[in-house]
Amino acid sequence: MSTTRDYYEILGVSKESTEAEIKKEYRKLAMKYHPDKNKEPGAEEKFKEISEAYAVLSDPEKREQYDRFGHAGIDSRYSQEDIFRNADFRGFEDLGDILGSIFGGGFGGFGGGFGGFGGQQQRRGPVRGSDLRYDLNITLEQAADGVETTINVPRAEICETCSGTGAKPGTTPKTCTNCHGTGQVTHARDTPFGRFMSTSTCNVCRGTGEIIEEHCPACRGTGKQKKVRKISVKVPKGADTGLRLKISGEGEQGSRGAPPGDLYVVLHVEPHRMFERAGDDILYELPLTFTQAALGGDVMVPTLHGNVKMNVKPGTQTHSILRLKGKGMPYLHGRGQGDQLVRVVVRTPTNLTDYQKNLLRKLDLPEEGGKSKNPKGGKGIFDKVKEAFDT
Ligand SMILES: [Zn+2]
Ligand SMILES: [Zn+2]
Repeated sequence: MSTTRDYYEILGVSKESTEAEIKKEYRKLAMKYHPDKNKEPGAEEKFKEISEAYAVLSDPEKREQYDRFGHAGIDSRYSQEDIFRNADFRGFEDLGDILGSIFGGGFGGFGGGFGGFGGQQQRRGPVRGSDLRYDLNITLEQAADGVETTINVPRAEICETCSGTGAKPGTTPKTCTNCHGTGQVTHARDTPFGRFMSTSTCNVCRGTGEIIEEHCPACRGTGKQKKVRKISVKVPKGADTGLRLKISGEGEQGSRGAPPGDLYVVLHVEPHRMFERAGDDILYELPLTFTQAALGGDVMVPTLHGNVKMNVKPGTQTHSILRLKGKGMPYLHGRGQGDQLVRVVVRTPTNLTDYQKNLLRKLDLPEEGGKSKNPKGGKGIFDKVKEAFDT
């Protein structure tokens, strides 16, 4: 059900909104669309959408992720359950069981079924760490040659002070009285069709079964701490934008001994000031003077690996494309490399002197396939042009 709309827009708040403002707007909307209060078609979907937006924007870590990467940042790291797992729905108890209504706990028709089907699964066991995404910009040269670099990846690690419990060292968490430590609560609803039972995560302890009375000062009760890890990344030759490099085990740490997630480094090749990339080929635009195009000759052309000499045939037309074999990008898979395609652009001279203009008039060059009115046509004419423009 993950929404594709902008979370800020959904809640009608700005990117600069404080947590309190977000909470206030969510309350307004939740009052309006809560399935218990609003039976209009679409209200339930709307309620789920605003709750998802709130769950992300009320969690500083998820909000930051969303601000940086948008929906992709959230979807790549969190399942629908993850999005709600650490959402702070405290203070909304008067609205009823919010998580229960999102995860089908008896609201929204009879989808809940008998005996607790459809409730959120209890999540107290080991949970694998989330995958992380890191966007890495590289230059076209680095993409061509491959590069080994070190990136700084911020990630949440288990708090050293409380070993991840979130409780101040020396204190013990109390059993949650709302769910009696099970982390789940069961709802019963009487309907004309009978009694419907459903189970959902306890919103007092948020499924942990425990209430921490004195929070660990180092992690403020989250059990995690933000650390920056230096990770070395090897970018292969021929890498292109969108290539994902998987670095196993460098995602977030798992809880209760579960394995960590993976890190995905997503590459972005920066635009180049001279070259454009087209798959394995490199496009380059070569300006030629009128004289060079007409008379031909050798010109120096920059490539990713230095200048190379290229021959221009006499009478080369503007926009013709010349190929420098093997001067493109190396293939990412397999041996070999693409070509550099050189597109010739003949520059028509401007700001001619009267002397040059007169020379041109004297030349009176023929149209393609036409005849020169100048009986002395041929090489001599080109020499005159060369004189005129190369000086
Ligand atoms: Zn701690
Ligand atoms: Zn509880």
